[in-house]
Amino acid sequence: MRIAIASGKGGTGKTFLAVNLALKAAETQTTLLMDLDVEEPNGGIFIQADAADVHKVTRAIPIWDPGACNLCGKCISWCKFNAIIKLGEMILVMPPLCHSCYACSELCPMQALPMEQQSLGEIRHLKLGKLDFTESKLDIGLEQSSPLIERTLEFADEHFGDKELQLLDSPPGTACAMVSAVKTVDYVILISEPTPFGLFDLNLAVETVRQLGLPFSVVINRDGIGNNDIYKYLEKEKIQLLAKIPHQREIAEMYSRGEIIYQQVPAVDEALNQILSKIRSLS
Ligand code: SF4
Ligand code: SF4
Repeated sequence: MRIAIASGKGGTGKTFLAVNLALKAAETQTTLLMDLDVEEPNGGIFIQADAADVHKVTRAIPIWDPGACNLCGKCISWCKFNAIIKLGEMILVMPPLCHSCYACSELCPMQALPMEQQSLGEIRHLKLGKLDFTESKLDIGLEQSSPLIERTLEFADEHFGDKELQLLDSPPGTACAMVSAVKTVDYVILISEPTPFGLFDLNLAVETVRQLGLPFSVVINRDGIGNNDIYKYLEKEKIQLLAKIPHQREIAEMYSRGEIIYQQVPAVDEALNQILSKIRSLS
């Protein structure tokens, strides 16, 4: 069972929910938590494990061979990501735009664009009791979240396919990084907050998971702030409200200190019980 925890925007409590849910689940079953917010992963702050093993991730980039190239310019039109340009008598590949699709390299009639492996980022793995945790981090300056997310999911299949529960802390938003993360899961938990911004972004996230054809439900964090519009929206759209986590200052304070919250706040523990009960009913 692979579950994504996602949100339409950052700052709604996605990592807070993912980490606490994973640690609670790991009390009774083997659990994998993947932090796929690869531009800014922070789940590792809360996982107090000593040892970490680090796996370097590379990606293939075409390298122009001026000796072989006849400057026909066809590679420029083949690249759907505008990663190749011609400057005078030079072909320039722009790695930040390249999606490693191999099209230019495979189609070049002169074999003038051989692919070369370059660093993309790393996957850090921690183990704590029944919990395995991976944190994927993109190299500074790179923008290709999706290839690293896909490599992390392959890594999880290879090393942790036997875990009873796999939780995935998705990148925020509804762009391609989020889609790359959630498209292979069995179920999505969307977390939002009862504010106009929360509702606006939840709406986008709901449209995205509906287009992906994924079953989902919603957890509301910071219940008690804002207004009731988000609850009316859930009712109107017939979306299951899985749990509510109350707005309490002590939760924010504990989170800012890197503490695990469900062991200290009964309302959070109760919300996690409701969510785990739903997850277990899915298997
Ligand atoms: S397709 Fe190959 S030969 Fe033609 S310009 Fe591009 S690199 Fe050069
Ligand atoms: S590998 Fe694909 S994305 Fe990268 S430069 Fe070539 S055609 Fe463009």
